[in-house]
Amino acid sequence: MSDLADLYQQVILDHNRRPRNRGKLPTANRVAHGDNPSCGDQCSVYLRLDGDRIGDISFDGSGCAISQASASLMTVQLKGKTAAEAEKLYQQFHDIVTTGKEPEEISDIGAFAGVHAFPARIKCATLGWHAALNALKGDPVPATTETHKD
Ligand code: ZN
Repeated sequence: MSDLADLYQQVILDHNRRPRNRGKLPTANRVAHGDNPSCGDQCSVYLRLDGDRIGDISFDGSGCAISQASASLMTVQLKGKTAAEAEKLYQQFHDIVTTGKEPEEISDIGAFAGVHAFPARIKCATLGWHAALNALKGDPVPATTETHKD
């Protein structure tokens, strides 16, 4: 295993162990839910759009390690980005997981390049990203303080 592959492996393990931005975001004004029935993954994305920029973002869900690590990483990548930048990042991420081609510059999203060897897992890796893009395109929702029920 190369050093880079090792580093990328650690990125996924780390996001699994310590998911970032997990839980409902009370100030969210956009929400979307993603569902991947073939694996049983669920992912809700909450984000606060300030003008055209993602001011804050979180996710909540359950499922396989790939889906949860990817959603966690997605929130880190998209925070502070505009909707157009988010779309572009998703395209980049989608290319990585479908072709296995690592990004030219070392980036955490390159950690998911190995997913391309397991086509059934591509939906796991893109689930959170899809939910985020749907949330960006969706209608505004009122902020909520309702707690998540499992
Ligand atoms: Zn999965």
